[in-house]
Amino acid sequence: MNFNLFLNNLYFILFTHDSPVSLFFAFIFGALIGSFLNVCAYRVPAGRSIVSPSSSCFSCGEIIKWYFNIPILGYIFLKGKCHDCGSSFSCRYAVVEFITACLSCLLFYNLGGFSLSYFYYFFFFCFLIVVFLIDLDRWLILDSIIYPACIFGFLLSPFISQRIDCKDLFYLFSLPVQNFPNWTYILIDSLLGGFLGFIIFYGVAFYGLLVFKQDAMGGGDIKFAISIGLFLGIEKSIYAFVLSFFIGVICLIPFMIINKKSGKEPIPFGTFMAIASMLSFLFSGFIRKFIFVFY
Ligand SMILES: [Zn+2]
Repeated sequence: MNFNLFLNNLYFILFTHDSPVSLFFAFIFGALIGSFLNVCAYRVPAGRSIVSPSSSCFSCGEIIKWYFNIPILGYIFLKGKCHDCGSSFSCRYAVVEFITACLSCLLFYNLGGFSLSYFYYFFFFCFLIVVFLIDLDRWLILDSIIYPACIFGFLLSPFISQRIDCKDLFYLFSLPVQNFPNWTYILIDSLLGGFLGFIIFYGVAFYGLLVFKQDAMGGGDIKFAISIGLFLGIEKSIYAFVLSFFIGVICLIPFMIINKKSGKEPIPFGTFMAIASMLSFLFSGFIRKFIFVFY
């Protein structure tokens, strides 16, 4: 057998975006990272190290053995209970691992395998998941997570080939498209997205303070919106921000009816923004087509 052909075939099986073997790798990688995200979401707000010590049972403090700590499978092996004391674990950890693994596959398939785009957007999704989990638990969005993500999202954006679709907007609105290098458009697009996030969420906060005499939007939400804008660029950020308000209303109305709340209580709005940003990125093509039916 021709050795080069063999290597070629091996490459296709292991690394192309639509081979079942490589998708399986993407799933495993996603599940492992999901497990790490659980650790981050739990330990970072508590000011603890994300590296050591190893995970232990909340109830008896016993270190969880590595073979029970395998993402998703560990939970199934243990039937959701601690091996030592029998107290039950929340299924949330396994769910986060599974969802992260599925999102990894989805991005892997759509972004052409283990490409720079895949890692960029997978990092973005992981960032969204951690912000989602911490906001859900503690109603808190941490600067120590937002700032590094902003820098990463902005500085790496020019290297992401997908981001050049922002040039379409220049054509769409008949803006002059000079022969500037592509990275200039992408950086402008990132800055516009971040600026839009700032304007919208700062506006809502300012308006809330003016009209309702209370904080409608926390400072964390505003910074989170800026970071989303930097990663997604202006078009997808618009979809994300509009969607986040839609999702917020859809989730809060039943909650307010059941709890007879006035709607003036604080809500973890970052959770809606995180979900909306993922949907916006995954379905932006569909949303664009949908809008232009009516345009
Ligand atoms: Zn235990």
